[in-house]
Amino acid sequence: MENTEKTEGKRLEEELFNSKKSGWETASDEEKGMIFKFSDEYMDFLNRSKTEREFVVSAKTILDQNGYRDIKDVETLSAGDKVYSINRDKSMYIAVIGNSRLEEGLNLVGAHIDSPRLDIKPNALYEDTELAYFNTQYYGGIKKYQWTAIPLSIHGVIVKTNGEKVYVNIGENEDDPIFTITDLLPHLAQEQMKKTLSDGIDGEDLNLLIGNMPYKDEGINEKVKLNILKLLNDKYGIKEADFLSSELEIVPAFNARSLGFDKSMVAGYGQDDKVCAYGALRAIMEANVQGKTAVCILADKEEIGSMGNTGMMSQTFDNFIAELLNKSGENRPNLLNKVFCSSSMLSADVGAVYDPIYASVSDRTNAALSAYGVSFDKYTGGKGKSGGSDANAEFIAKVRAILERNNIRYQITELGRVDVGGGGTIAYILADKGIEVIDCGVPVFSMHSPYEVTSKFDIYSAYRTYKVFYEEA
Ligand code: MN
Ligand code: MN
Repeated sequence: MENTEKTEGKRLEEELFNSKKSGWETASDEEKGMIFKFSDEYMDFLNRSKTEREFVVSAKTILDQNGYRDIKDVETLSAGDKVYSINRDKSMYIAVIGNSRLEEGLNLVGAHIDSPRLDIKPNALYEDTELAYFNTQYYGGIKKYQWTAIPLSIHGVIVKTNGEKVYVNIGENEDDPIFTITDLLPHLAQEQMKKTLSDGIDGEDLNLLIGNMPYKDEGINEKVKLNILKLLNDKYGIKEADFLSSELEIVPAFNARSLGFDKSMVAGYGQDDKVCAYGALRAIMEANVQGKTAVCILADKEEIGSMGNTGMMSQTFDNFIAELLNKSGENRPNLLNKVFCSSSMLSADVGAVYDPIYASVSDRTNAALSAYGVSFDKYTGGKGKSGGSDANAEFIAKVRAILERNNIRYQITELGRVDVGGGGTIAYILADKGIEVIDCGVPVFSMHSPYEVTSKFDIYSAYRTYKVFYEEA
């Protein structure tokens, strides 16, 4: 007869070890169905929202359809009210007022909606050898060689001196032309190929090819440039000088797609950090907010240091919370500081996933594994946690308890091996205000590349985490 009794060692192992397992192994068919449905909706949203401005438009549309109001149109606030504030079309704060008084603190989830890309320079358009180009400056930490020889699209605004704003989105529809940055053929690249990856493509050579057809007039010097300007003038009513007051962003023209024979992953541009931003947006809209007021931050400029009046360091965020206090009739001197010191937050940003092809940069036991659930980075920074925000153990225990009672898979990880590198998020900016905060997001392959990869299991796990945090923190 076979002995099915567990040994004492086996029993102890099950009780004491923190056993880790892929989320797919334990997900039910019903849960898999929800994961795939959520991921489809996410990819659809992402394809319409490749820039921070487009993300704000897409989010506003959904919020307006679901009873949210612009806070500037609201006189007073009380429990159950749902408001948002849009900051210069590029960042956004959303709140659902809870039953508790604001002074007892807020439950915040904060993500960023800007992503690495190329920006068009103010003096953008030039012609060389009957080819027309846009000059660019890169935005955020990119590997420049990844941005050549791929289809690119142009998104953004051109603002004329009369205040008229022209919206540009070209290269996304099947009928649209696309653009590209050319690279050298291998046959003639002997010298280039000897360079390091960081020097192989010079930043000043990231010039977008936009045309080659001359305007027919013998008396003109730059005929191709003139022809492009004529086309742009016909389509948008702009002149060359109008580029001086434009924000045009160059992003990959390809759409987000399911990845793998099993369709278990998402490949797409801008998942850092729109995957967390979308999850946070869905979470605040779907959470049953009873206790503390829920606040969702969709920040701009994280990729270049969170500076500027649309970045997380801006006073516009404090002003939004002050407005909540004013309009709920609670405000009094110095209350804002007290609110912050009583609040807790998930800094919803992506982290590095353990990639077996590049295993040497990770400590495998502390790395985030794909499909093992939302990943918390207790600390960020580099070289001995320098410059990072280090979450308090007491706060982590509280968050763990919420996740475990809701049966949500999570992992507590770090970004890379000791002394290999490091990174930061908006977490430290909120921690500076006195808020309890921990980084918490979806692990990503090929982060900051034109085509980032995430696990659908982790995408759904992050969304569920943000939702229960709003309900129970
Ligand atoms: Mn990020
Ligand atoms: Mn990033």
